[in-house]
Amino acid sequence: MNVRQSTNGASVIVVGGGVTGLSTAWWLARSGIDVMVIEKGIVGWGASGRNGGGATHQHSPLFAEEQQLWPQMEELLGYPTEYRPKRVRLAISEQQMQEAKPGFDRMLRQGFPAEWLDAKQIRDLVPLAAEHVVGGVYFERGGHANPQRTVQAYAWAVQDLGGRILQHTRVMGFERRADSVTAVRTTAGDFSCDQLVVAAGPQTGLLSRLLGTEVPVAPARADMIVTEPLPLMPIGGVDGNSLYGRQTLRGNLAYGGGPHEWLRVSNSSEGQRPSSPLALNIAKRLSEIFPKARHIRIIRSWAGIVENTPDGRPVIDRLPTAINAVFATMSSVGFGLSPASGRAICELVMQGKCSFADLSDFRLSRFGNLSPSWREELGWIPPESEGNHASAA
Ligand SMILES: Cc1cc2nc3c(=O)[nH]c(=O)nc-3n(C[C@H](O)[C@H](O)[C@H](O)COP(=O)(O)OP(=O)(O)OC[C@H]3O[C@@H](n4cnc5c(N)ncnc54)[C@H](O)[C@@H]3O)c2cc1C
Repeated sequence: MNVRQSTNGASVIVVGGGVTGLSTAWWLARSGIDVMVIEKGIVGWGASGRNGGGATHQHSPLFAEEQQLWPQMEELLGYPTEYRPKRVRLAISEQQMQEAKPGFDRMLRQGFPAEWLDAKQIRDLVPLAAEHVVGGVYFERGGHANPQRTVQAYAWAVQDLGGRILQHTRVMGFERRADSVTAVRTTAGDFSCDQLVVAAGPQTGLLSRLLGTEVPVAPARADMIVTEPLPLMPIGGVDGNSLYGRQTLRGNLAYGGGPHEWLRVSNSSEGQRPSSPLALNIAKRLSEIFPKARHIRIIRSWAGIVENTPDGRPVIDRLPTAINAVFATMSSVGFGLSPASGRAICELVMQGKCSFADLSDFRLSRFGNLSPSWREELGWIPPESEGNHASAA
């Protein structure tokens, strides 16, 4: 692959300045590749800067690499991510204990330590936990980081290595010669490229359609709330009661949880406004697991748009209709996976394959027989009201 720098293009253009695109750009820049990231807003303005910061994806083929890389990322990037290892999943009912079992089994199958804890052990690690907690699981592997700091760390690290980031620049289309993309058409003009990576979150499908391939992604709103700070607990990454979240290094509880609110894809960015019923519901569930924090005020809330594929698994693949284009969408677990997903995408671009994980689960061909009405069949239908929009390409 060429290593060159041109003002009108780059060897590799990455569309999307979320964690997937930025991590990919950073891995490419580390390998000496001339890379340019094109972002329609500012870096991290999508889900990447708004998520729960969880990095515990034991169901993913990228999990081992995710866990290997996270503890090193601050040093490798040269900027803080506020990564903290270890994770607890607590339960306040026997049913929630049962629901923790598949994750526990997956950890052990991969050879990573995991341990069932009784109520007292949970309260020792998580002093805010309720008296009525039943027990839970302790994961040695897994953790959490600060999404905004991490996005910024990737972006600065890309630039330190000579990579370029164009913000406020929307990709509108592509120039092609035969079955290759030769340039990216944007609101700031055309930029030529030898290779293209598209990691545009919920808008990935809109851009793939312009190249003649369907990447099925449905957008959904998810909310987060943040409380006033509380004394730091021995373990800050605590899930349970259908909530995910973390205690920040300053002591705030930052929590989110379903259900997803399905959105239409349109030109509006209304979908990133929080929904007050959902935020209140998250607060209620949080006070059920942490009743000692009931007196604490919520100081912020926001929403983000989660990208969802029909089977919940990421897509990382070359497009059959554009051989020099890799499309990636992470289906709601992209923050934690980002150190590993970026490395995998970089290797796919440079070598045509990933050396450290089997990416066959992420191929597009698995959707070959997908029904055109897959969203309706899954019940992922947005309500017919104003404001249910996810911003589009
Ligand atoms: C509330 C919430 C909580 C979550 N919690 C977790 C968690 O705890 N752990 C976890 O791992 N994941 C979590 N996620 C999911 C995670 O945030 C996403 O999977 C991840 O951020 C996806 O990153 P991305 O870079 O692929 O996409 P995005 O972050 O969506 O970035 C895509 C970027 O592409 C840009 N773009 C789109 N179209 C164009 C265009 N035409 N031209 C130029 N730029 C374009 C967008 O502006 C955007 O910045 C959560 C998500 C939300 C919303």
